[in-house]
Amino acid sequence: MEISVSTTPTLLIVDDKPANIALLSDMLEGLADIYFVDDSTKAFDRALALQPDIILLDIEMPGMSGFEVCKLLKNNPDTAAISVIFISAHTEAEVEFNSLAFGAIDFIGRPFNRAICRLRVQKHLLLQQQAKALLESKQRLYAETQRLQVTLNSIGDAVIATDTDAIITFMNPIAERMTGWHQADALGQPINEVMALRETENKQRVTNPIILALKEQRIVAMALDCELVHRNTAQAAAVEDSAAPIFDQNGKMLGAIIVFHDVGEAKALATKMSFLANHDQLTGLPNRILLHDRLNQACRLATIIERKVGVMVIDIDQFKYLNDSFGHQLGDELLQLLVKRLQTILEPDHTLARTGGDEFVLIYPDIMQIEQISNLAQNICRVVRQSFEIRNKKYNMSLSVGISLYPTDSSSADELLRHADLALFKAKQEGRNRFCFFSDEMGRRMLLRHQREQALRQAVEHDRLEVHFQPKVSLADGSVIGAEALVRVRHENGSLIPPSEFIPLAEETGLIIPLGKQVLVKSCQQSARWQQAGINLPLSVNIAAAQFTDPSLVGLIEHLLQDYKIASQMLELEVTETALIDNPQHTASVLAQFRNLGITIAIDDFGTGYSSLAYLKQFKVDVLKIDMSFVKDMLVDKNDYAIVKTIIMLGHSMQIALVAEGVETAEHQAALLALGCCYGQGYYYSKPLAADDFMQYLKAGK
Ligand code: C2E
Ligand code: MG
Ligand code: MG
Repeated sequence: MEISVSTTPTLLIVDDKPANIALLSDMLEGLADIYFVDDSTKAFDRALALQPDIILLDIEMPGMSGFEVCKLLKNNPDTAAISVIFISAHTEAEVEFNSLAFGAIDFIGRPFNRAICRLRVQKHLLLQQQAKALLESKQRLYAETQRLQVTLNSIGDAVIATDTDAIITFMNPIAERMTGWHQADALGQPINEVMALRETENKQRVTNPIILALKEQRIVAMALDCELVHRNTAQAAAVEDSAAPIFDQNGKMLGAIIVFHDVGEAKALATKMSFLANHDQLTGLPNRILLHDRLNQACRLATIIERKVGVMVIDIDQFKYLNDSFGHQLGDELLQLLVKRLQTILEPDHTLARTGGDEFVLIYPDIMQIEQISNLAQNICRVVRQSFEIRNKKYNMSLSVGISLYPTDSSSADELLRHADLALFKAKQEGRNRFCFFSDEMGRRMLLRHQREQALRQAVEHDRLEVHFQPKVSLADGSVIGAEALVRVRHENGSLIPPSEFIPLAEETGLIIPLGKQVLVKSCQQSARWQQAGINLPLSVNIAAAQFTDPSLVGLIEHLLQDYKIASQMLELEVTETALIDNPQHTASVLAQFRNLGITIAIDDFGTGYSSLAYLKQFKVDVLKIDMSFVKDMLVDKNDYAIVKTIIMLGHSMQIALVAEGVETAEHQAALLALGCCYGQGYYYSKPLAADDFMQYLKAGK
């Protein structure tokens, strides 16, 4: 039954005497809307219909007594709540007692004291109104609580409530499921016990946000990358959300509530979405969006560390033709194969992106020398030239590549892409299947280098390397005590190219390995010839740093000594200081193997590199070759003189033999001798000579 609080209360007077009714109505005027009934048998129906706040009920009435009416009222739930005040001329205590025992709230005796009677009714009306309001509040509260309960039980988020000490007072079914705790067990437990949070990365425990919310009396969001450990399975689920304190109407904190949900799936979905947004579906490569991001980042970093960023725009030549003639399905497969092949030669810091049907962009960050990117471009063109096989059929393709460099020829990421595009256009115009630089100057440089590399490769392949020999002499009497093998390349036009023009290139391109092998072979062949002619001269051969990385080096030398029957003391290896420093452990082990074979080791160009005393001791070298730059000016430059003198003293004290390079005059010879250096080589005695000339030189000396 709905009960509403009307602003004006209602009052029903039940009395068989109209005079009494009139008197009461008059007395109570203004307190309520007053109704009456003088037939007691109709009182109940009237009360039921009217639902008054109070009934003033006369006890002595014909038909039905007041007590009987009251009994009816109290026995019916629809009228039981109506307050009854009995009225009677019998003011004895017994009557009053019976009245109250019947369920009345009061008893008023006749004759009435007007003021007291009015006041009493007024008080009761007020009480009745308040009781009604209270009941209504209770009902509203009950409905509200029910609604809340249903909501909390059916929402998808987990909810836990605690008191001000972070002790759990409530948890909803989702919270039960996520924590693995039943509410019955969790009630009275501290939040940290039930809701075990830790950091996703390092698995460190995290303070529950509810504790912070209580402490700081504010809403606290849960730290990102937080996970909740399940009580029974110990499995962790990524969660997020927040805790908030709750206050009563006076602002007093009552406790706090935390609401959280599983974000594991959301995260996985987000990751997948972000991957899809940034990658090409066919090849899985970054798309244009990610490319721009990476490129901007690479340029920013390059500016800071003062390096270059290279961009290649790569386009498949005549891809449309392939697609049209063999179908798009095959075109797609070819693209996938191409990407796979390219990835075999890319470094982890390169970004290869697909920017169009058959167009790719490659970012090469952190470039020190532009050769790095031209080498890669060359490699890319090379690996693609080998045919691709799909279902036992071979397909050939070639690429055109345009290259631009930041900040060399482009000043921003956008310009890099534009310029590389222009360079690509140039490559296509020049006949495809090639790479072009945006900058002509760079293009020329790279072309020249490419030509040189080709020439050197051919010289190595076509046996156009020659070895010349420079005598090493005893400074005291000029007698030849050995020779140094020095390589030259015979140009197709017959001229000789000095090593300064090709050794650095050979080192960069790796050609130094086959080149060095050939020099060793040719040197040993010459040494064998000398032996046959009765000449026993130790021969020094230069070994580049890169050759130490060749695992076949020691074996090769061992075999050469055996094959040509050369005593190991007849071979000396000249090593630069950088070779020792680059990879000291490995070099030390290789040098130890040479020593075991009986081969001597000389440090070439000593004084120009690290000149570390530590490694002289560590590597146990036999000879120091004083670099010619010091010898050249030792008579005019005090510092150079001091350096030469110091190196000689060092050699003496460490019992390492000394050979001065670049002895060009008799004065050099005399000064070096005076300082205690016994051996030298230089133009004063002889330039490096072809084998026959060297023989002549020896004969002439004899
Ligand atoms: P290096 O090993 O220090 O060789 C000495 C260089 O000084 C030779 O130059 C030689 O011709 C030059 N030289 C000798 N005496 C004089 C002199 O009195 N005055 C002047 N101005 N120069 C003199 P070259 O033959 O041009 O070789 C240059 C460098 O090339 C060599 O320096 C060596 O580092 C490298 N090299 C030569 N042949 C080989 C080789 O077979 N393998 C490797 N890895 N490097 C080699
Ligand atoms: Mg040398
Ligand atoms: Mg030298």
